[in-house]
Amino acid sequence: MSTLTIALSKGRIFEQALPLLAAAGIHTAEDPETSRKLILDTNDPRVKLVIIRASDVPTYVEYGAADVGVAGKDVLLEHGGDGLYEPLDLGIARCRMMVAGKPGTQLDGRTDRRRQRIATKYVRCAERHFAAKGQQVEIIKLYGSMELAPLVGLADLIVDLVESGSTLKANGLVPLEHICDISSRLVVNKASWKMKHARVTALLQALRGAVGARAAA
Ligand code: ATP
Ligand code: MG
Repeated sequence: MSTLTIALSKGRIFEQALPLLAAAGIHTAEDPETSRKLILDTNDPRVKLVIIRASDVPTYVEYGAADVGVAGKDVLLEHGGDGLYEPLDLGIARCRMMVAGKPGTQLDGRTDRRRQRIATKYVRCAERHFAAKGQQVEIIKLYGSMELAPLVGLADLIVDLVESGSTLKANGLVPLEHICDISSRLVVNKASWKMKHARVTALLQALRGAVGARAAA
């Protein structure tokens, strides 16, 4: 029988997906935080885990290099398109996508002299958000440490993920506007959905059960 490959990223998604996978009968002896292996075996010889960057998960799954994957809604919104099925909200790695800045920063899209500048890793989400408000802002793409941008005058505002708000607070910033709630989703390759239907739906049902049991607990 063919292998079912599951794409996951290290860190919070791996940690929080692990109990859900365990409830679906999938266990791995290896710890991606310490192992350098990118392909992890599981107790089931027909199931493998591939460990990749969070933002690469949709790409692997869309191209069928992995049959299924776990990806944050933020990553899926940025990836865009309809190349994947997204059948289940796993309810893990929850946070909010927010506009943030120095306290009192206006949210009107302009300063006296120019358009407001928005620094973010989430260019599509930010563009969509400000366009929906009818504001023409300048989006500046960054790859991390967005909190720095308003402090050094690179940007007026940032769009970033916020969980507790402590990173913002540590840098003298505050959340100013909620864009959307974020959690991780199960994504499925479209061909795998057809060709490996029994196995994919069995995994989906088991994960759905685990998510439901956790929500009820
Ligand atoms: P990389 O480190 O590869 O650039 P990343 O920083 O997005 O990627 P993680 O920090 O592990 O990787 O985040 C993975 C996912 O977890 C994100 O896509 C998002 O859905 C979610 N996430 C990110 N930050 C938080 C947070 N502060 N609280 C809860 N969930 C978060
Ligand atoms: Mg990170």
